[in-house]
This record gives sequence, C-alpha cells and structure tokens, in this order.
Amino acid sequence: MQINRNYLNLQESYLFSTISRKVSEYKSKYPEKEIIRLGIGDVTLPLCEAVINAMEAAVLEMGTQQGFRGYGPEQGYDFLRLAVRDYYTSRGVTLQDNEIFISDGAKSDLGNILDIFGLDNTVLIPDPVYPVYVDTNIMAGRQIIYMNANEENSFLPMPDKEVKADIIYLCSPNNPTGAVYNKSQLKVWVDYALSHNAVILFDSAYEAFIQDKEFPRSIYEIDGAKQCAIEFCSLSKTAGFTGTRCGYTIVPNELVYENMSLNKLWFRRQTTKFNGVPYIIQRGAEAVFTEEGQKQIKENIKYYLENAKIISETLSDMRIWFVGGENSPYIWLKCPNDMTSWEFFDYLLETANVVGTPGEGFGKNGKGFFRLTSFGKREDIITAMKRISNLQF
Ligand code: PLP
Repeated sequence: MQINRNYLNLQESYLFSTISRKVSEYKSKYPEKEIIRLGIGDVTLPLCEAVINAMEAAVLEMGTQQGFRGYGPEQGYDFLRLAVRDYYTSRGVTLQDNEIFISDGAKSDLGNILDIFGLDNTVLIPDPVYPVYVDTNIMAGRQIIYMNANEENSFLPMPDKEVKADIIYLCSPNNPTGAVYNKSQLKVWVDYALSHNAVILFDSAYEAFIQDKEFPRSIYEIDGAKQCAIEFCSLSKTAGFTGTRCGYTIVPNELVYENMSLNKLWFRRQTTKFNGVPYIIQRGAEAVFTEEGQKQIKENIKYYLENAKIISETLSDMRIWFVGGENSPYIWLKCPNDMTSWEFFDYLLETANVVGTPGEGFGKNGKGFFRLTSFGKREDIITAMKRISNLQF
C-alpha cells in the first residue's frame, strides 16, 4: 500500500494555530484585557428571516408523505438552479440551466474540479492567495507557477505573455487582499486564456460585496469568458451560509478542450462522487434569491461594508497604505514602520488588544502586510479603531 506522497509536499499551516497560541498566552498573562478579533473570515450576523422561513417550511414538508424527499438530483433541484439562472439574468448574463451546478460551498468545488483536468497541466496561482488553490494542486502533484501580487500592481497581477499556463486561478474581490479586477483587466485575462488554450477558475465568492458598477461581478460579463472560464460562487459570505453550506459552480457548455465538453466531464464527476445538497438547505438558498431575501441579505452586506468603511477611514487618517474595504469585506494594509507581519501582529495585540491576520500566512508577497476583516460587530470595530488610532508608529 502506498500513500499519496504528494501530501508530504504540503506545507504545514501554522498561521491560525500560531495566532491562537499567541492570543491565549497574552490572555493568560493579562486576563482583564478585552481582546477584539478582526482576523476572522467568518460571518457573524444570523441567517435572514426569508431563509429561516423557507427552511422551516421545508422541514415540515419533509415530515409529510407527499413532501418527503430522498436523494435529490446531484447537480441541484431545478427550483434553485432556475433561481441562480434568474439571478445571473438580472445582471445581464444568460446561462443555460444545465450549466449551473449546486454545491455544498465553493471550497469543495474548487478542490474537486481538479478531477477533470490532467496532471501535466501547469497551474498559475497569484501570491498571496486563498490557500485552497495551492494545496489542492500540491495534493495532485501539479506544477505551480506563482504570479506576484504586490504594491506595484495594487495586488492585481496581469498575465505575462512569456508564461505558459494551462489552469489559471483568479479571485475577485480577492481574499486576502480585497482587491477587485475591473472589466478591462479581466478582458486581458480572458484573451490570454483563449490564446493559450487555458482555463480560468474564477472564484467570485465575494461578488455580492461589489457596489461599484465599474467592477464585474461575474467573469461572464466579459466577452469570450464562456469559452475559457468556470465560475465558483458561494452563499457563505453573501447570505451567512458558512455553517449552512451552499454554493454553485457554472460550467458553460461552450467550454471544449481536446474535443471534450468540460460541462459533461463535471456532470459525470458530480453524479459519480457527490449526492447533492440537502433539500432543506436548497430551499433556504432559493429564498436568498427572492425579492425579500435579496433585500435582507443586502442589509447584512451593507452592515459589513460600513464596518469596512470605518476601518478604511481610520487607516487613511493614519496614512497607512491599504487596498480593499470598498467592494470587499477584507482590508489589506502595509505594516507601518517596515514592521514584519508578525511584529505588527504582536504590536497590535499588545498595545491595542486587537487581533488580525499576518499577510505572510497567504504567501511570500504577504510579508510586511496584514489582513483585517469587517465581519465583526459594529461596536467592536469602533472600539478597535479607536484603540488603533491612538497608536504611535
Ligand atoms: N473562496 C474564497 C476566496 C474564500 O475566501 C472562501 C472562504 O473563506 C471560499 C472560497 C470558501 O467558501 P465556502 O464556504 O463556500 O466553501
């Protein structure tokens, strides 16, 4: 018996365990201090009323003879796929019903999609990055090329014509940086993918945070994208589904490589290895796309974005360089006084009792940078920013 030795090439992630250790050490020394956590990437507001009502009704339905459902379609119930289709239509993107696959969240599909690609493909991944893209490719043994996201390109790397890549990851609005590609930048990426016969894996998990019309919320707003891109989306941050689990992946019928339809391959993969998202959850997800649901989730997103604004204004007043925070729940700042990410982490913890995430946990270009998130409670954000604005750098 042989193990998959690629797993031995994974780097141990010490980021969140080191953060917890440092925070507990500090707390045991100073138990009276009130620590505010602005490092978490998880939502804090509860599910909205429309979702709860829909799920309650679905629970009751499941307890009746006529309403009971067993296995559902692997790719999702029609009612939810049509709701997703109409959501795209309202934003000017036309999708075929069979191009929409309901998932238990973007993370699973981002990892699982690799099943349909050959192992010899070269993968292009931005640095810093959401670690799932890197680790899932290391597990499969694929060769990874990193593209630098840095201060010079405002953390929005563009294609290098000299680099030949087959699978390209883009995430906009970005985790961890909060940076957002505009339409002309995405068009350059689409043209690059088309000319290199590459596929773009576009992670739009944070699309609902985009307020500015100049920014595309789906890669399919760009001409040619249906011939070269798969889009992954999630209700986790959009509607507070991090613990409820539901997302969707769009695999256009026009995606054809080596004369094979990627849509057909993904359908085959899902029907073989996935048994669908629970009916009750899909009914809750459907409610997100109703008029009432949209109104309610937009209130929550507005709350997080107002938090982000409070953070951004504090940083601007302090003349600290940052990106994100306007169309994204993430704020990515440059550590003042040339501090390293961990020095800044310790400094913030000890002087302001505020916890954030050191940028180097997301890749080498994260060194000297720091991520704050706006998912906390308003009063905590205000207190944390007051404390930070009193700091001397
Ligand atoms: N993509 C990005 C960029 C994320 O930051 C996250 C979660 O933090 C996900 C995907 C995963 O989302 P889900 O909860 O739908 O699995």
